[in-house]
Amino acid sequence: MGPREVTRIPKLDPTPWSRYANGSESRLAVLLTDTSGAWLALSHGLKSVGVPFLITTDYQQAMKHSVVLVYPTVSGNLLSAEALKALAAVPHQGATLIGFNVLGGGLNEVFGFGEALPSSQHYEIQFSRTHPLTSSFIDLRESVIPIGNHQGPGVTGSYSYSDPRSEPLAVYEDGAAAIIHKSYGTGQAYAFGLDLGFLLQTGYSNREEGIARSYVNDYEPTLDVLLRLVEGIYRDGQRNAVTLATVPGNKSLAVMITHDVDYTQSVLNSRSYADFEQSNGVRATYFIQTKYIRDFNDAVFFNEQGVALLQELAGRNIEVASHSVSHSRVFHRFPMGDGNEQYPSYRPQVVDTVTTRDGSILGELRVSKFLLENLLGQRDVLSFRPGHLSNPYGLPEALVATGFRFSSSVTANNSLTHLPFQLNYGRTQLAETEIFEFPVTIEDEALPPLGERLPQAIDLARKLSRYGGCYVVLIHPNTLGHKLGFERGFVKAVRDFSWFGTLSEFGQWWSGRNKVGVDVVGGADHWTIHLEIPEPVVGLTLKVPGNFQFEASRPADVVVTQKQERVLLHKAKGNVDLIFKAKSRRDSNNE
Ligand SMILES: [Zn+2]
Repeated sequence: MGPREVTRIPKLDPTPWSRYANGSESRLAVLLTDTSGAWLALSHGLKSVGVPFLITTDYQQAMKHSVVLVYPTVSGNLLSAEALKALAAVPHQGATLIGFNVLGGGLNEVFGFGEALPSSQHYEIQFSRTHPLTSSFIDLRESVIPIGNHQGPGVTGSYSYSDPRSEPLAVYEDGAAAIIHKSYGTGQAYAFGLDLGFLLQTGYSNREEGIARSYVNDYEPTLDVLLRLVEGIYRDGQRNAVTLATVPGNKSLAVMITHDVDYTQSVLNSRSYADFEQSNGVRATYFIQTKYIRDFNDAVFFNEQGVALLQELAGRNIEVASHSVSHSRVFHRFPMGDGNEQYPSYRPQVVDTVTTRDGSILGELRVSKFLLENLLGQRDVLSFRPGHLSNPYGLPEALVATGFRFSSSVTANNSLTHLPFQLNYGRTQLAETEIFEFPVTIEDEALPPLGERLPQAIDLARKLSRYGGCYVVLIHPNTLGHKLGFERGFVKAVRDFSWFGTLSEFGQWWSGRNKVGVDVVGGADHWTIHLEIPEPVVGLTLKVPGNFQFEASRPADVVVTQKQERVLLHKAKGNVDLIFKAKSRRDSNNE
């Protein structure tokens, strides 16, 4: 019987921008001109890609930074005459100015364009093949990215810049300039005509906007390309730029093998998958449905016999995670519930594909967690995936309330990103939660059968490894054969360049990394990177400028390895200083 304690949904508590106000002048400064903009999604995007930043509403504070990003709008209505004058001077003084929606304030000449023209008819942008900041976007899915839905109303608030003074970094499908650049020698000015925060918010909140070019099993790096562009602009403009890599242990790809156990035969087959994983040292996540009710979907398998089999599975080196109680296709329409749902009186009935009776979001979460923890001897079940990726808007706060921390409830393609991201309350833009989402990259239900898609899956892994993507594989162990064959082939092909782990292992690493503060001080030939690492992180990896040569750490027992522009901290916590000197010619030659 249980769980006994009552679950309460936390109140919506809007996140103040000041939560992101701390840091030193080495960070990218976001000058916030309108607090109603999608600055929270922008913050989460910068966190995901690893660019250190702070938010300020004070232009004088922003001006102390080498890279100033003005968001969401540059206009005379939002900025004083003094602020506009100061911003106009930024590129002339050798620093970098990034403006979003430059609509007024007399800065057209600073950014190098005639007029900003509003449009609701732009659905995609194409990047320049020649500009150094965009020439690495070589894949067709990188060089052209969708920003709106052809069937829908387009993108609100997109602008084009007429008469750009130099070749645009990106143009809309009609050739109008979407992102422009004007160089002042050392100083630079960039103007974006699309609202990056809004687009990030669209992907992260996943409210069926229909922008993605495919649902799953494909490459859809829309948000990643734009974040990599901002990272590139930051690294160019901030001479001592240090950013955080996205994969533990200086590897190129974070791979999570996950299994959804939602069928009687799957319980038995799981052993064969676990055997393979164990013999290869791969820890996988098993999302287990706690199915104690016979219904439209299947017979009961979370019974005495099933639990005995699952106990054996759980006793191996795997992560046990929740795959709900009822596995309902209409979970996304469930009511929240009263937080008193208990086993065995909680009895959700799947009647058919469109009807489930007596189910609640909290019931699915708290009862499944309780059963997995108590019957399978798990200390803390932290990860959740709904059946059919049916995803209620209230899931983030329900996960918080029931003690989960990590979600894998959407596809990467639908989210427009192959990087993890932080979820907001109600999947709106007001309040962040402590839940992180790890979207599904490859699944096994689309056709052709998974076993025939191995070459494409490996090809996708290579694409994501170019920028440190996250790769969640979903295999239902309902059959062995071609699916187990796929897993064998995939692990073998990507193992050299990949980090492997469970969802909660990567989740804990990712949320630890998310809290890390990075600041750099120093002059011409010596620099100190100040790291603030509130939670222990194993395998934190930094990207440093090419002329940085590691010299010493404080405390001295932090183990640090440098490989060219990558610096790996084997284990670290608290305040850590890394001291670098300028690489001499001889040091460079030795590499
Ligand atoms: Zn399932």
